[in-house]
Amino acid sequence: MNMKLLQGKTALITGASRGIGRDIALKFAEQGANVAFTYLSSVEKGQALEKELEAFGIKAKGYRSDAADFKAAEDLVNTVITDFGTVDVLVNNAGITRDTLLMRMSEQQWDEVMNANLKSVFNLTKAITKPMLKQRKGSIINMSSVVGVKGNAGQSNYAASKAGIIGFTKSIALELGSRNIRSNAIAPGFIETEMTDALDPKVVAGWREAIPLKRGGTVADVANATVFLASDMSAYITGQVLNVCGGMLT
Ligand code: NAP
Repeated sequence: MNMKLLQGKTALITGASRGIGRDIALKFAEQGANVAFTYLSSVEKGQALEKELEAFGIKAKGYRSDAADFKAAEDLVNTVITDFGTVDVLVNNAGITRDTLLMRMSEQQWDEVMNANLKSVFNLTKAITKPMLKQRKGSIINMSSVVGVKGNAGQSNYAASKAGIIGFTKSIALELGSRNIRSNAIAPGFIETEMTDALDPKVVAGWREAIPLKRGGTVADVANATVFLASDMSAYITGQVLNVCGGMLT
């Protein structure tokens, strides 16, 4: 029998209308998971993804929900539990950038990034804890960044939010390990998306050259690592940060 890696599991993925989150949703569905996912502004893309996911023969549903809003996250989890019965995997993927040097950074740029990237992880994790504790299993996967490990000029707000995610991830692993709930982070490096397509090709070529594997990452590279951490293949792995960066930090 050809058993799929996530057969019978239900996943909730934040920010899946585009980019990395979208590919995670597709790879999860391909591996047999039922997929609940969120978006904020990309309503049409969210609805289109729902159809694409259903083609894998699994249950899929998109929800418009602001991960930065505590009450909205609580309501979302309650609705998803009603619709799907359970959530085995939470992927906190939603994130934004508001890049600028500290000297020019406004309080609003700081707050927006901290709320969308870090508070969102608290909001969703807090809400999902109750059902996961009841079923005595769960895998929580938080999307950090190499920038959270290393720092980056012009991204002090983003780097702080992504470093904060790592501290949160490890603390939750310690708090909930005895209940068979795992908590890990993924730190993607330079992932080539529509966003990076807009950059100067010379700059991108320079980045590629500095990476040991001599290429930028793909959304699939990150999604595959996420499938691993969601599956029982990683049953004894918790509290870790998995760098998916082509060796960039080595
Ligand atoms: P992206 O293409 O900009 O997609 C971001 C997704 O998050 C979209 O689906 C967006 O929904 C959603 N989102 C943003 N704010 C939200 C909120 N408050 N509530 C709910 N959904 C929200 O980003 P990406 O490049 O795929 O990045 C995904 C994650 O990986 C982020 O956490 C990012 O920091 C991290 N990461 C990316 C890279 C990279 O090179 N791309 C590297 C390291 C880490 P709407 O479309 O509806 O706005």
